[in-house]
Amino acid sequence: MKDFNSVLYEAVLVAFGKILAKYDVFTQAMIMRDIGKEVLAYLNNHGFGFQETDSIEDLTMLINLFVKNGFAETLEVSPADKGDNYVWTNLYGVAAYKELYDLALNPFLACPLNLCMSYVVGKHKKKLLMHRKEFINESVTEAQYELVDDDDPEGNMNELVLQSARLFEIADEKQKLFRHQSITDTLTGLHNLRHILDEGKRIFEHAEKHQLPIAILIFDIDHFKLVNDTFGHSGGDVVLRTLADICRQSLRETDLVARYGGEEFVVILPNTPPPRAMEIAERLRKAVELAAFSDGKGNKVNITISIGINGENAREISFDAALQNADKALFQAKHEGRNQIVVYKNSGNG
Ligand code: GH3
Ligand code: MG
Ligand code: MG
Repeated sequence: MKDFNSVLYEAVLVAFGKILAKYDVFTQAMIMRDIGKEVLAYLNNHGFGFQETDSIEDLTMLINLFVKNGFAETLEVSPADKGDNYVWTNLYGVAAYKELYDLALNPFLACPLNLCMSYVVGKHKKKLLMHRKEFINESVTEAQYELVDDDDPEGNMNELVLQSARLFEIADEKQKLFRHQSITDTLTGLHNLRHILDEGKRIFEHAEKHQLPIAILIFDIDHFKLVNDTFGHSGGDVVLRTLADICRQSLRETDLVARYGGEEFVVILPNTPPPRAMEIAERLRKAVELAAFSDGKGNKVNITISIGINGENAREISFDAALQNADKALFQAKHEGRNQIVVYKNSGNG
């Protein structure tokens, strides 16, 4: 049988790998829960008889086992002291973990990286200091580089720690990528419907709270079916991508633009009073009218858009209601001949 030291080394790396493969998005709590299980399973598959535990007593026993196996002279479970904490390890059951989590009052204290740290601690027979750092949005990545060796402030960490840190990095990259994909429309690179619905609600609540003006535009390509019929669906796709570029150029950094449906787009203009919204809409309408679109095969395509704008009272109504109003105004713009802008009015429209 291999020694405990090297099996734990493998167990941690294997567990990290499995967790990374399993989730596209995960919270730190999920990693901690699952990594504990994975590490235990791995150790037990290699002849060690660890039990999952639900009590703090069992956990203390496990920690003592670590100590007995030469992982450290001491492993302390103690709340933060002046912002620094000694490392302890956490092989645990879910409930025990939670107790410790509450005890520590610091998410990073319970980080699975502690398993690796315990290895280092054991190897060097000394304590490691861990700087406390604020956790941002439950990200798992913040603090691992903050580990400082008591006697070696340069941080001459051994390979295991570096590998673990790299795994955290990969996890973070993967999480960012997934987050980006989940809010992005693949064809145009604009935001997708889901994102605009989530964000719109949030932005509207903010506008209402701070009494800020807010505007919504919905626009739709005129006779787009004809573009597809003439230049093929792929030609239509090229036009949609170019239109997205024009949106990015014509709108401000703070504006939020999304592909709402096939060839329909929605723009949220925060902090924008109605006359300004009208100017922006007109700038966009004109930019589209004058732009030289192509079908990607050298043929020139001309398109126009019709735009609906919600009325004056946007911040007093819900995001959904404002969307509906903008949509009614768009319908009217189509009805009145297209390539134009209509502002929703309580009585006049639909
Ligand atoms: P209107 O001026 O009334 O908006 O006329 P329209 O032809 O644009 O409207 P309609 O809703 O009849 O047609 C929209 C077309 O958009 C039909 C659909 O095939 C096309 N479309 C929707 N999504 C996509 C897409 O992702 N790519 C392409 N190329 N076409 C799409
Ligand atoms: Mg259309
Ligand atoms: Mg349409």
